[in-house]
Amino acid sequence: MNQTVNGPRRRGMLLVVAGPSGVGKGTLIRALLDRHSEIQWSVSCTTRDARLGEQPGSDYHFVSDEEFARMSAAGELLESALVHGIDRYGTPRAPVEEAMAAGRDIVLEIDYQGARSVRAAMPEAVMVFVAPPSSDALRGRLVGRKTESSEAVERRMRSARIEFARMGMFEYVLVNDDLDQAIEDLCAIYLAERMALRRSGWQALQSELLNGMGE
Ligand code: 5GP
Repeated sequence: MNQTVNGPRRRGMLLVVAGPSGVGKGTLIRALLDRHSEIQWSVSCTTRDARLGEQPGSDYHFVSDEEFARMSAAGELLESALVHGIDRYGTPRAPVEEAMAAGRDIVLEIDYQGARSVRAAMPEAVMVFVAPPSSDALRGRLVGRKTESSEAVERRMRSARIEFARMGMFEYVLVNDDLDQAIEDLCAIYLAERMALRRSGWQALQSELLNGMGE
């Protein structure tokens, strides 16, 4: 039996973290995973080239356009999207479904298009939007990370504008101003959602408790 904070046996939680490129989603998720090693990370597929230091199979599965199209046509992707108008990204379906069925929680870092698709396919998903404290702060972070050309920074700022327009479809908005605070906030969302009564698993605990009380 899968014993959790929420009592015996529950389906794994699907935690979706979205927000514009450069807002710090990756850093926040890494901190969440450091504290909660029980959470699985969903490794996305992408057609973009690997950046310096990125590990294939761990940061992303780097695939060709042809392979991405094949996976998509074969139904192997839970969601997919063209991000920043040039590169395709997608979430492999099997690891997500396997984790949830086994009662393991899994986190996805995806864009708003992917978030919308996941919400439609799996309404029980927990949707978190990470926002910068201001648009200037976001631009500063994109310029500061020095992995992007100025053209790429502008493309990412245009995508960010679209992401901000879609904030209303999320359940939580987390402002990443102070990193330590934002990490606490993400962990708080995760822990609260684990205990949410709408998740399956509490009825078995209730029966056990009631049985133990006798008449
Ligand atoms: P980057 O190229 O900076 O790693 O990621 C660019 C954007 O692609 C990120 O902001 C992230 O939200 C999005 N992204 C990463 N993986 C996926 C995915 O599997 N599906 C979708 N829809 N978006 C993704």
